[in-house]
Amino acid sequence: MVDVRVRFPPSPTGYLHIGGARTALINWLFAKKHNGKLILRIEDTDTERSTQESIDGILEGLRWLDLDWDEGPYFQTEFANDHVQAAQNLLAGGNAYKCFCTKEELDEKREQALAQKTTVGYDGTCRNLTPEQVTAKEQQGIPYVIRFKVPKRKGTLVYHDKVLGTIERAYSEIEDFVIVRSNGKPLYLLCNVVDDIRDRISHVIRGQDHMTNTTRQILLYEALGSPLPVFAHMPLTLDLQKRKISKRSHGEVVAVQFYRDKGFLPWALCNFLCLLGWNPGTEQEFFSREELIEVFTLERMSKVNSVFNYRPGDQKFFTDPKLIAINEHYLRTIDTEVLGQLVEEKLKAYELWDDSYAVERRDWYLATLDLIKDRFHTLNDFASLGRAYFSDSYDIEEKPLKKNVLKHPDLVQWFKELSKRFADLSTFNQETAEQTTRELADELAIKPGILINGMRTVLTGQLAGPSMFDILTTLGQDKVVMRLSDISRLYPST
Ligand code: GLU
Repeated sequence: MVDVRVRFPPSPTGYLHIGGARTALINWLFAKKHNGKLILRIEDTDTERSTQESIDGILEGLRWLDLDWDEGPYFQTEFANDHVQAAQNLLAGGNAYKCFCTKEELDEKREQALAQKTTVGYDGTCRNLTPEQVTAKEQQGIPYVIRFKVPKRKGTLVYHDKVLGTIERAYSEIEDFVIVRSNGKPLYLLCNVVDDIRDRISHVIRGQDHMTNTTRQILLYEALGSPLPVFAHMPLTLDLQKRKISKRSHGEVVAVQFYRDKGFLPWALCNFLCLLGWNPGTEQEFFSREELIEVFTLERMSKVNSVFNYRPGDQKFFTDPKLIAINEHYLRTIDTEVLGQLVEEKLKAYELWDDSYAVERRDWYLATLDLIKDRFHTLNDFASLGRAYFSDSYDIEEKPLKKNVLKHPDLVQWFKELSKRFADLSTFNQETAEQTTRELADELAIKPGILINGMRTVLTGQLAGPSMFDILTTLGQDKVVMRLSDISRLYPST
């Protein structure tokens, strides 16, 4: 049995994309499942595009998702000597050559090939230069790149992909590719292989967008005298129009940070991401970490691309509705004490936290979260939609203000009266509050629902919510009396 060693090697040129997070998650699951190791390697060789901000964002995102790694972060730039050395070895072993063709020459050849409809790719001009010709060009100071010498073989290069099965590519389609730029810097294709060999990576699990790299990299492994890792290419995640999901076309919803800021539970996002392109073979949709580690296999990955069901500018859903539904499920089912800790962060961020919620009023705090969580989509909702439970300063939703429920001209009077009657109650509980409300409705010859629905809106700012009498006892007699008598709340604009 091989020692499983997988890696997550992001290029730090932007935020942590949900596609990247999914790659990290799948590698993490695979490592956990096989008691293996996950290596985090920051592929920062593109120094012009790599930024510290992006490195920090990636690490922060992974930590938030609780996807821990066993080794690293290693930084690819620290191993620059290994990459240069590997390129030299390939040159010395006759597996690579210096190519002096200029960009203009290459462009011209490319255009000719396009016009003649022949294969577009490097034609091998410098492949057969004699050592003397090479020396002469070097002495003239002509800049060169180093190209890998793709073996001239008939037939196809074949490998077994753990997800896709047998993959074949004709050797004739693989051009002599560049491994070192003219400025002496080795390119991704080479660095990535050298690092995977050094890090003893057993399985390379990455997106299908890397498949053309894989065939070329297999040749590099061979030339460097190293056994191949197992390759597994995951389906891509596209939008409904089958486009790649990107910040440019979809905005913030593609960044992990967005979900943290919005108040998603990290595991809800992981659960969702895993189901994008993988299925358990059962109807089960929600998995704990342990369950997912148990049931996860690469063989159950889908071969076809998965869909991130989000339309930019969607009025109803601010991200994929399935992700929202999964988040709601975890909000409803998570242990209340854990929920309490998560909501605490949000209340603090919105300046709604009161230290009494930590000890003296802990029971009230947790019971309140339990009461109100059923309609919420995210942790942020506790601080926004649920604001009235934690502060006396809250707005009333506009919708009910326009509805009849708050339009009756006598409603203000009725609430003042109800407020007085509530104040007089020596025992304020669900029964007494309900009885008082119904009695007043009877006296006024109106439906109790008018008072009940109106009261919910006045007391919580929201038209919908938990049972009115639960709300009354949760808020307590003093707040209820004060809010019902405070008519200005009803018509904030006047
Ligand atoms: N740095 C590459 C990327 O972010 C790594 C690809 C890979 O080999 O997994 O796409």
